Parts: sequence; C-alpha cells; structure tokens
Amino acid sequence: MSLFRDFFIALSNNTYLNETAKKVGPRMGANKVVAGNTIPQLIEKIQYLNEYRIAVTVDCLGEFVETKEESLHAKQQILEIIEAIQYFNVEAHMSVKISQLGSEFDLDLAYENMREILLKADECGKMHINIDTEKYHSLQQIQHVLDKLKGEFKNVGTVVQAYLYEAEDLIDKYPDLRLRLVKGAYKEDETIAYQTKEDIDSNYIKIIEKRLLNARNYTSIATHDDQIISHVKQFMKKNHIEKDQMEFQMLYGFRSDLAQSIANEGYHFTVYVPFGDDWFAYFMRRLAERPQNLSLAFKEFSNPKALKRIALYGSVATGLASTLAIATKLLKR
Ligand SMILES: Cc1cc2nc3c(=O)[nH]c(=O)nc-3n(C[C@H](O)[C@H](O)[C@H](O)COP(=O)(O)OP(=O)(O)OC[C@H]3O[C@@H](n4cnc5c(N)ncnc54)[C@H](O)[C@@H]3O)c2cc1C
Repeated sequence: MSLFRDFFIALSNNTYLNETAKKVGPRMGANKVVAGNTIPQLIEKIQYLNEYRIAVTVDCLGEFVETKEESLHAKQQILEIIEAIQYFNVEAHMSVKISQLGSEFDLDLAYENMREILLKADECGKMHINIDTEKYHSLQQIQHVLDKLKGEFKNVGTVVQAYLYEAEDLIDKYPDLRLRLVKGAYKEDETIAYQTKEDIDSNYIKIIEKRLLNARNYTSIATHDDQIISHVKQFMKKNHIEKDQMEFQMLYGFRSDLAQSIANEGYHFTVYVPFGDDWFAYFMRRLAERPQNLSLAFKEFSNPKALKRIALYGSVATGLASTLAIATKLLKR
C-alpha cells in the first residue's frame, strides 16, 4: 500500500504532467472531484450545496508557482472568487495555499499577496480565509506569514496535520485561531511524521479532543473517516461541547450521502470545493489516499466517448493510461 501511495504522491509532484494536464482539462474522473473552471460553474455548485445546508470552502487550484507574475495571477483569481461569493450571497469562504502566492521563491511577496486577500475578504463581510498546509518544509513559512497577519485580521486560520509529531504543539500555539484538523496528505519522513494509519489516527483523536476542550475559536474536523466522526460526536456529547463550536468538513465529490446525513443531524458542515484548471496534483493526492478512488478514473477509461476525447491528446492519454496500469499492478502486490 505504501508503494501505491508513494507512486501517486510522486506523480503529484511531477511538473511536466501537471503542466500537460492543465491543457487537457480535468480528466480520468477528476471532473467528479473538481467543480469546473469558470466562476458561474463554481457559484452554481455552491448554490446547490447551500440548498442542502452545506457551506463551501473554495480552493482555487494552483501549484508549482515559480514567478511573480504567476503568483499575482493566482491572487487575482482568488480576489475575483471572493467578490463573486459576496455578490451572489452564497455561504462560502476561501482556502488558500501560500505556495500559490509565491512563498517558494519570495516569502515577502506571498505575505503581501495574502494580506491583500485578507483585506478584500474583510471588506466582503469578514469572510474567513484558511491557509492550507502543504509539505512540511513550508510549515515554517506558513507560521511566519500567519503570525504577522493574525494581529491585524480576525478572519484568518490554518490547518494542523495530525501525522506531524509537532501537531499537538501547534494546537497549543493557536487556541485563538480558527483551525482545521486533518490527518495530512503529503509524504513526510519518519523523522518528522507518524507513518502508520494506527499512529496517525491515534494522534488525530488526541489533537481533536485537546482542541475541542481548549479552543477559543471555531474548529473544523476534516475527514471522511466515519469511525473518527462517530468518536468526535460521542466525545462532544460526553463533554457537553456545543455543535456551534465546530463543523465537519469533507472534500467535494466524496461521501456526499454521509455529508448530508451529518448536516441533517444539525452539525455544521462544509465541503472543500477545488476549482480551476490545475487539477492534476490535487487528484493524484486523492488517489494516493485511497486505492478505491481509482474507480473514478476507470469509469472514464471504460467510456468510449471520453476515451476519444482524451485520445486527441495522444501522449497525455498514453501517459495517463500507463499510470493506471502501473497503479493496478501496485494494488495487486
Ligand atoms: C476538507 C478537507 C481539507 C483538507 N485540507 C488539507 C490540508 O490543508 N493539508 C493537508 O495536508 N491535508 C488536507 N486534507 C487531506 C487530509 O489530510 C487527508 O489526506 C484526507 O482527508 C484523507 O484522510 P481521511 O481523514 O479522510 O481518512 P483516511 O485515512 O483516508 O480514510 C479512513 C477511512 O475512512 C473511510 N473512507 C475514506 N474515504 C472514503 C470514501 N471516499 N468512501 C467511503 N469510505 C471512505 C474508509 O473506511 C477509510 O479506511 C484535507 C481533507 C479534507 C477533507
């Protein structure tokens, strides 16, 4: 299973495949987990989810930003989405990656871009802006930017990845910030992160409980794991923790029935909706997490019409088809 995971994480980091995939548009089933690439399409999806009492956090997809121009373009797109959310009066906020805003080559630039986003969000009804966490090397950068911004803005928060040994310290460091708690999506070394599902789950539960008991701000528990979700519900009941103090979150396209039933029980619920052309790395990380997610891809490859469309991009189609073949072999090991 670890080989399977490593394989897809490696694909997610491949800049050539990411660039090529942008030209093709969401394929291999990615269109089931990415909500289009125009603002009207996005707003329509948000309105649909809102009708079912489900709020949205929008991720304007974008990775491997290497120039100032690219970072300014990413910021501009995010500002436009914030304006659209306010204009259409939908229940949504934004999730932003600092690497999109230039942190990999100029941290000051990323800070300035993030500040501009927060100013706009403040203007637009104090909309919440979440800084997503990425690979471990960027954690210091995120904290640097966050620590500078959190005095000036109340509407900024971040994510804690339970696979990190230092997750608990981060919970202790930010009791006043709105936080999202996740297991963690990247491949990290054993010197900094737990490696087995048992260890990660156990640390996840530990930080969730600590956070719910001590937080002075809202908490988002972001997982598709029904055992963790049941545990959280029981823990809240036992400790008289109000439903208004927290929400559950899931990714768009996964476990919609479960999401709906949790929302129907009166819990706040938010779906993380990725949007835009830069779908490949995001989709590869979802495949890395769960072999069964490959079924999304197989559906498209068994559909002759879709295959014909993909075939227009010969080399990409060959690359993607062999990717699936290798993945299948890895699964059988
Ligand atoms: C809203 C949201 C935001 C996120 N933000 C970040 C971030 O900023 N940084 C980051 O590193 N990671 C982020 N992640 C990803 C996260 O770290 C995990 O990689 C991802 O959520 C997979 O872990 P899991 O908790 O869902 O449980 P897993 O360990 O993947 O799954 C546990 C169990 O849940 C069940 N299950 C899971 N998925 C399904 C399904 N589709 N259908 C049926 N059963 C299922 C299965 O029984 C499975 O064994 C985010 C995740 C979510 C949901």
